[in-house]
Amino acid sequence: SIIVFGSINMDLVTRTPRLPVPGETLLGYDFFTAPGGKGANQAVGAALLGRTSYMIGRVGNDSFAQELLTSLKVAGVQTDSILIDDTTSSGVAVIAVDDRSENTIIVIPGANGKVNHLDVERLEKLLPNTTVLLLQLEVPLPAIIAAAKAAKKAKVKVILDPAPAPEKLPDELYSLTDLITPNETEASRLVGFNITNQETMTKAAEFFISKGVEIVVLKLGSKGVFCATASESFLFPAFKVNAIDTVAAGDAFNAAMAAAFDSGLSLRKAIEWGAAAGALATTKKGAQPSLPNQETFDTFLET
Ligand code: ADP
Repeated sequence: SIIVFGSINMDLVTRTPRLPVPGETLLGYDFFTAPGGKGANQAVGAALLGRTSYMIGRVGNDSFAQELLTSLKVAGVQTDSILIDDTTSSGVAVIAVDDRSENTIIVIPGANGKVNHLDVERLEKLLPNTTVLLLQLEVPLPAIIAAAKAAKKAKVKVILDPAPAPEKLPDELYSLTDLITPNETEASRLVGFNITNQETMTKAAEFFISKGVEIVVLKLGSKGVFCATASESFLFPAFKVNAIDTVAAGDAFNAAMAAAFDSGLSLRKAIEWGAAAGALATTKKGAQPSLPNQETFDTFLET
């Protein structure tokens, strides 16, 4: 099975002709809510591909909590280890999108911001039956490091999606990470130089490997994936699809990689699965609604 330790959010999406300026009230024309959060997205992605997928995290003291839990359950995610934290709100992202597709986003971590060692204790109980732990950076860093430490001790593969990326991550977290999956923007921030070509990709990979990461997977959007270890590196081209919305492509990628490893497949196969799920996610709008199920996924890979 796969465990995701991370964020659970409700996205509150408003559509407006243009973005308001400070002090201004304006009339928008559309509103919807959609479950998101990188952690929850990855847990849903893995469950939809038929793997046993546990989510560990927190929701808050509002009506979003039940809705978020229900949507995870409907996708097949195991939610018994999610805590309902009545001291705070559920995590939300307040998103405004204008007619030019420019957006502004305010993220309130809420319950995600309360994740701590108590959540790691629930993680430890599940580790014995697990192959992969998926981490992102939307819950507090000390909890993430403790989770990675526990996984390492249990010989569970740690996959870190360093998003959203800070300018620097502690060396300890790198040393606990088996596989890191930044996109170009995130990798550029973390290494401190712009990644623009194969040479800078190689240099970035060397940076992560020097910190103790075993496998570096750079997600390059429609350009595919650059993968490097201490002994080899290769480019895996993207599948050609009609991309309409890239939201959650990266989450679909990580979920499918984890599903492949959980099925006992090789690194190359895991990258192929990741790229297929990432490509499929770009063909549909939204975060969780865009994640492929097993049938769509199998059909895509067969043809
Ligand atoms: P993130 O969402 O984290 O920024 P990417 O946009 O790089 O990550 O997407 C993750 C993966 O999904 C890519 O490495 C690629 O394999 C696939 N993907 C993303 N965008 C496209 C696209 N336009 N066409 C085909 N595959 C894509």
